[in-house]
Amino acid sequence: MWVFLNDRFVPKEQAVVSVLDHGFLYGDGVYETLRSYGSRIFMRDQHLARLRRSAEAIGLTLPIPDAQWPDLLHEAMRRNEVGNHHVDAYLRITVSRGEGEIGLDPALCPRPTVVILTKALHPSPPALSRDGVTLTVANTRRNLPEALSPQIKSTNFLNNILAKRESIAAGTFDSLFLNWREELTECTISNLFFISNGTVHTPALDCGILDGITRAIVMTLAGEEGLPVKEGHYHVAELRQADECFLTNTSMEVMPVSRVDSFPIGDGRPGPLTARIKARFAASRHRFLEPLAS
Ligand code: PLP
Repeated sequence: MWVFLNDRFVPKEQAVVSVLDHGFLYGDGVYETLRSYGSRIFMRDQHLARLRRSAEAIGLTLPIPDAQWPDLLHEAMRRNEVGNHHVDAYLRITVSRGEGEIGLDPALCPRPTVVILTKALHPSPPALSRDGVTLTVANTRRNLPEALSPQIKSTNFLNNILAKRESIAAGTFDSLFLNWREELTECTISNLFFISNGTVHTPALDCGILDGITRAIVMTLAGEEGLPVKEGHYHVAELRQADECFLTNTSMEVMPVSRVDSFPIGDGRPGPLTARIKARFAASRHRFLEPLAS
């Protein structure tokens, strides 16, 4: 496996980061997860723009110019023989504050650390889409936006990991976070949607969620399907009474949910409107891929 580290590609064994890296010491950094379909990266510019926004939000200057990222991502895929006719690619960009003396002042770190990892991305097991996944409503609350905005895709991931531990303990697929007002927000690595009486609902950004790139596409596609789409402030009771529910993220796309805690959603099977949105996503995703020449 080849890893891009700072300014060159090195074999994984040589891709080593300092114990004084503030990403390691303090979780001080940002990241982005992308994917390809074949050789073409999905929503590439939107992911790179979000990386830039996350970096700006923590006062970190990306050490790589915008125009250089596409070539680096493609080089990473080529070297690792993924993102081609045979296999799609998962890509992760991490940019940490970099190495510096102990202390919280970012000025201690003169140079950010940049890592690009890529590996094969295999679709989720078909049984998950067929049967739907299960969720636990976590006791861990989603980060208060004024404390650490969920819109910053930060390497400081303990909030999500604590919630994930709850779902693992409960034997469910993932945890659903509530916010400080007990409103629905998102799961540990995905956005939430539910459908009631033909209307597609999703928590509003000001509930304290990541502005998911797949979320935005699904809202557009649901509209194209003729379904009303509403962003709002919702509670668990509304979700329990929903007809259908699904999750979105870059690698899972659209994933039906069959149960939340002990409550089946609808009849406890993936619903027909979710299937329609999922099918439209599959049929439309070419619209969201970078040009072939890249
Ligand atoms: N919410 C969280 C907390 C995430 O970590 C992610 C993706 O990693 C998402 C939502 C979905 O975002 P996207 O659709 O941009 O992959």
